[in-house]
Amino acid sequence: MQTTLLDLNAPERFGVEIQTDISLAPYTTMKVGGPAEYFAVVQTVDQLIRLVRWARAADLPYLVLGGGSNVLISDAGVRGLVIYNRCRQVRIDAAPCCVFPLDDRPFVFAESGASMAGLARRTVSAALSGLEWAVSLPGTVGGAVVNNAGAYGGAVQDNLYDALILGADGDIEEVPAAQLAYGYRTSRLKAATGGRLTAIHAGFGPVVLSANFRLTLGDPAALQAQAQHNLQHRRRTQPVEASLGSTFVNPPGDHAGRLIEAAGLKGAAVGGVQVSRQHANFLINPGGVGGATAADVVALIKYVQQVVAQRFGVQLTPEVQFVGEWESDE
Ligand SMILES: Cc1cc2nc3c(=O)[nH]c(=O)nc-3n(C[C@H](O)[C@H](O)[C@H](O)COP(=O)(O)OP(=O)(O)OC[C@H]3O[C@@H](n4cnc5c(N)ncnc54)[C@H](O)[C@@H]3O)c2cc1C
Repeated sequence: MQTTLLDLNAPERFGVEIQTDISLAPYTTMKVGGPAEYFAVVQTVDQLIRLVRWARAADLPYLVLGGGSNVLISDAGVRGLVIYNRCRQVRIDAAPCCVFPLDDRPFVFAESGASMAGLARRTVSAALSGLEWAVSLPGTVGGAVVNNAGAYGGAVQDNLYDALILGADGDIEEVPAAQLAYGYRTSRLKAATGGRLTAIHAGFGPVVLSANFRLTLGDPAALQAQAQHNLQHRRRTQPVEASLGSTFVNPPGDHAGRLIEAAGLKGAAVGGVQVSRQHANFLINPGGVGGATAADVVALIKYVQQVVAQRFGVQLTPEVQFVGEWESDE
C-alpha cells in the first residue's frame, strides 16, 4: 500500500478526520475484530462522496461500515480506509391524512447511514405500510439495501424504489431497485463487495448514498400492532448478547438453528464465543469487546459446520460476511 504518498490531512478540507489504527470491535454487533489501518467518520452524504473520491484518487482501498451487524472482522483488521457511515437524514413525504392515488404512493427518503429500524418505526408512526418487518432490524439503510435484508415475510426489495449510488466509475446514479438483481439476502451490490463466501477486503466498490422507498397508506392501529408483534417476537426468540445475528443461511427446506440444536450444539463454546442456548443459529460473545476473538468465532463456525455435516450430511453456509485480512480466505 502506498501509504507514504497519502496526504491524510486533505479530507479535513471537507470536515473529515482520518485516524489510524482504530479498533473496529466497538463498531460491530459481535464486538470482535482488529484495527482499521485508516478510519474516518462521515456525517453527511457530501462528506461520504468527497471521501470516497479522495480515497480513489489516492489509490486507497475503502470499505463502508454501517451498523457492523453483518460482518465478522478479522483479528488482523482491515488494511485501507474504513468509512463509518453516520449519514442519517430521513424524510417522509407523506401526511397520513392525505389520500394518494394508487400510482402516486408516498415516498420515504433515507440516507444510507440512517438506522433501518429507526426509519421503519417512523414510517409506522406515520401510518405508512411496507417497512413494519424492519422495526427491530439492526444496522443501517445502506447495509439493508446491499444485503436485501428481510424479516417476517418482508424484505428491502419489496418497497425499495431506487438507490442513489456512487458507482465504481465515480459517477453518481439513481439506480431503480429492479436493476439491483435482488435475491435472498443478496444483490448486485453485495456481489460487488465480495459476495457471501469469500473474505471481503477494502476495495473500490460502489457505495450506497441514500435510498427511496415507496410505501402505502395503512391502518395506524393495525400497523402499530404488527410492529409490536415483530418487536416482541424478536425479544422473545433472540439473545440480547453481542452477536452476528443468524450465523448460517437456512438450508433449503430446513432451518440452520434446528439442525444445530438437534446436533446437541447449544452452549458449545470456543474461547469467549458460544452457541446461544436461546437460538442455536446465533453465536454470542457475552463478554463484549475484549471477551472473544474473531479466531474464536471462526473456530466455532467450523466446528458447528463439521458436527452438522457429520450428523445430517448438510453443509451450513455462513450468512455473515468475513471482512479484513485472514490467514486464508474462508
Ligand atoms: C441480532 C441480529 C439480528 C439480525 N436479524 C436480521 C434479520 O432478521 N434479517 C436480516 O436480513 N438480517 C439480520 N441481521 C443481519 C444484519 O442486521 C443485516 O444484514 C443488516 O442489513 C446489515 O446492515 P449493516 O448496516 O449493519 O451492515 P454492515 O454489517 O455494516 O455491512 C454489511 C456489508 O454491507 C456493506 N455496506 C454497508 N453499508 C454500505 C453502503 N452504504 N454502501 C455500500 N456498501 C455498504 C459493508 O461494506 C459490508 O460489506 C441481524 C443481525 C443481528 C446482529
